[in-house]
Amino acid sequence: MATISTPGHTATTGIKHSIYWRDTEAVEPGPPLDRDVRCDIGIIGGGYTGLWTAYFLKQADPSLDIHIVEMDYAGAGASGHADGFVTPTIGHSLAGLVHGFGTDRAKTAYAVVGRSMLELDRFCRKHDVDAELETTGYFSVAANDAQIRLLRRDVELAESIGAKNSLRLLDGDEARERIGSPAIHGAFKVGGALLNPHRLARGLARVVRNLGVHIHEQTMATSVTKENGRHVITTPGGRVVADKLVLGTDAYQHQFGGFKHGVKPVWSYAVVTDPLTDEQLSRVHWPEREGFVESRNFIIFGRFTKDNRLLFGGGPAPYFYGRDMSENRHMRRDQATAFLRGALTRYFPEWDDVRIAYSYGGCVGMTRDFVPHVGNTDDGVYHAYGYCGNGIALTHTAGKILRDLILGRDTTYTNLLFVNRKERRFPVEPVSWVGAKGLTALLSLQDRYPNLIRAQLV
Ligand SMILES: Cc1cc2nc3c(=O)[nH]c(=O)nc-3n(C[C@H](O)[C@H](O)[C@H](O)COP(=O)(O)OP(=O)(O)OC[C@H]3O[C@@H](n4cnc5c(N)ncnc54)[C@H](O)[C@@H]3O)c2cc1C
Repeated sequence: MATISTPGHTATTGIKHSIYWRDTEAVEPGPPLDRDVRCDIGIIGGGYTGLWTAYFLKQADPSLDIHIVEMDYAGAGASGHADGFVTPTIGHSLAGLVHGFGTDRAKTAYAVVGRSMLELDRFCRKHDVDAELETTGYFSVAANDAQIRLLRRDVELAESIGAKNSLRLLDGDEARERIGSPAIHGAFKVGGALLNPHRLARGLARVVRNLGVHIHEQTMATSVTKENGRHVITTPGGRVVADKLVLGTDAYQHQFGGFKHGVKPVWSYAVVTDPLTDEQLSRVHWPEREGFVESRNFIIFGRFTKDNRLLFGGGPAPYFYGRDMSENRHMRRDQATAFLRGALTRYFPEWDDVRIAYSYGGCVGMTRDFVPHVGNTDDGVYHAYGYCGNGIALTHTAGKILRDLILGRDTTYTNLLFVNRKERRFPVEPVSWVGAKGLTALLSLQDRYPNLIRAQLV
């Protein structure tokens, strides 16, 4: 039992500290690897990165023998935790991406990720994957004048890189016609989609298995070595000996030697309410059910699930000393629940009586400049990680990049801005932890007092 107290709201309720999506489709993990196998491609990680890479490779060359080892079940990591916003976002902001990589490369990257967003929908329809995908998309919203300035900047930048449908900044009245929240003072429609990430991961795993890919669930890679020019993945029940190795472990990527300082697991939290009754739904005007994302350093976002629950997420994203990813220690975080309850009430005071049923967190793989890394080492290790909380469409793109790199093709994908770029490394502990704490405090302060600190900090 958790007691949550926020101004204007006190509730003692039986909140579940487990991921809501997992309750929408039961999982029976497959058996662990129990023998040695020899194959063309060995993949560690049964999330979207590993699965899309296997999918695109099999499509390109059905004869490839591919084995995936997954320590839990396919989709157990971030892929099954995600909040389900299918976004074109790359990096922390469009402004940052254009500044770091130039207009042309930013434009190409957005076009390619935009294509992935469309293809996701087609994939689900073609393969009968019920990922509860809603193509209504979402709004980027502003809750104060400083955020309106950010929205205006993003609209102008999107136009300058030739966004296909030019974005229109809606004023407060227009925005509230779409989502009737008193907290919304302006908005623009991003597009995109909303889905159930767990069902997408499980459906994708089914499709990939049907293509002949072997997915060994409950199989942890305990070491990776090289023998006679081949990669050897050692697991408790057997070894996978592969010509090529793919590491698709995102926030867990730091466990592999050369990647230790390239990515950091940062926790992102969400709450999910009970399903809203028809009477509760009728209190707020929200006709098209689009999601929304508040434009701040630590974004706050909201959406409906298929069964009319409200999912609210975001807020300060903690990093725990030593890259601590323990669900036992951090899945439940009462201050995150309280923050999100407060945000929900601020956005929708009419729903102050709606009970929070779930509260949980998961690890997002962060890079130092908020842009993912996709590529290969001289040693023939292929990798994609650091999607910084925007991986649903990006992992689809990363799967195509890895396919082309593995097959030795020189394509639009292998020349994208993420590919084989120089990694900016995080410092060692305790500097990393202290730095994260300091930055979190500063960014939170700017979110609270946007006119006090006007500089762009990230
Ligand atoms: C809370 C949360 C909310 C998010 N919300 C969104 C969102 O709304 N929109 C969006 O676009 N993105 C979102 N993301 C990001 C997105 O979910 C990820 O970028 C994406 O799922 C990464 O996929 P992946 O396959 O690279 O990693 P993962 O899905 O984490 O897969 C990695 C897999 O590797 C396995 N593994 C790790 N180590 C080993 C080992 N030694 N041996 C075997 N297996 C191992 C893990 O069990 C895991 O299943 C969110 C992420 C989180 C955590």
